[in-house]
Amino acid sequence: MSERILVTDGLVIDPARRLEAVRDILIVGGKIKEVSAGLSRKKAVLGTTTIDAKGLWVVPGLVDAHVHLREPGREGDETIATGTMAAARGGITTVLAMANTDPVTDSPSQLAFLRAKAASDALVDVLFAAAVSVGQQGEKLTEFAKLRAAGAAALSDDGRPVMNAGLLRRALEYAKDMGLLIIDHCEDLTLSAGACMHDGSEALRKGLKGAPWAAETVQVARDIALCELTGARVHLAHLSAAASVAAVREAKKRGVPVTAEACPHHFALCDDMIPGYDGDWKMNPPLRRKSDREALLEGLADGTIDAISTDHAPHGCGPKSAGMDLAPFGVIGLETSFAVVLTELFHKKVLSRRQIVERMSTAPAALLGLKDRGTLAPGSRADLTLVDPGAVWTPQAPYLSSSRNTPFSGRRLKGRVVKTLFAGRVVHAL
Ligand SMILES: [Zn+2]
Repeated sequence: MSERILVTDGLVIDPARRLEAVRDILIVGGKIKEVSAGLSRKKAVLGTTTIDAKGLWVVPGLVDAHVHLREPGREGDETIATGTMAAARGGITTVLAMANTDPVTDSPSQLAFLRAKAASDALVDVLFAAAVSVGQQGEKLTEFAKLRAAGAAALSDDGRPVMNAGLLRRALEYAKDMGLLIIDHCEDLTLSAGACMHDGSEALRKGLKGAPWAAETVQVARDIALCELTGARVHLAHLSAAASVAAVREAKKRGVPVTAEACPHHFALCDDMIPGYDGDWKMNPPLRRKSDREALLEGLADGTIDAISTDHAPHGCGPKSAGMDLAPFGVIGLETSFAVVLTELFHKKVLSRRQIVERMSTAPAALLGLKDRGTLAPGSRADLTLVDPGAVWTPQAPYLSSSRNTPFSGRRLKGRVVKTLFAGRVVHAL
């Protein structure tokens, strides 16, 4: 007999089915069998494992469409095994791993290797993006049809932008034919060269070189134009600037098939909060002004920004202690994202419970064309995240991630993932 699990008395939030009520969930054989009230009285047959979710939210497992797992090439900073342990702890049951590994994920054989590795090592589901251009060099397109056949879940040169507009136009045309999503990291390198933070009064005060907001928005505007020209879907990674949000909002009004994401660090923090020259506060795009942060919050609230993703980017302590100027770009985020979102968006009344689940599960699942998740509808894979919205805690190293580069260490957060189920298996429990 397949294993039966009954999750009882949780506040079930499933935006796809407009459900927000206390319910029991019956899981059989790794899939959701039934969601209704009073199941515990009827269905608790012998051999059923019961998980008491009283006082907790029960939401579809979170989907993070932007993660760097560093395998292969930098296994000391993160692996598929450690990255997915961190994801499970954060309530994330599906991640999209970016292609800027060493070597770059740009061939069917490389994808096959990674998918086999994930099948043996991963604690949650890992999907892989393949590169748009060979070696992410921005010169020659990869073979989209072969990459799709080999299981590429999306295409992205993330870590780098696709600087050549002509190349991106062709990429979009091919990707549209194949039904593949292109995710672009928007940054005009001629405007951001040599920068380590946002170009503003804080950079001036610290005597550091900054990248202006326009380095991002110039390419957001270009991508929107190419999206409109080709009719291909474009997903814009990690928006950080107010003008970028405005451009996406206006494009969506005109029916351009552009989507966008934002990261917790960008909507929770800004450049005047950076302590000294701490490299753990350095990422790309950088933390910007209060007005940018507020624009991200508005974009999240009105749906201009579809999804929240972490851009989890592990780096070792050595390189990160080199200070703002010399440290590599990137922060980890898998273990803290839901808690930061609850602290900054739910408790401060920016988003409703339902909107939070939409941005962190329903929308990213839809973006990646994943029909068996992002909802708790019967028949879906039993990916569930149980969260205590009122639990106060303080993230501190060590983390389950092999790295510890996060500005959220030592910060009081309200809301904590208590349990994560992946395909009906408990993969994290506090
Ligand atoms: Zn990026």
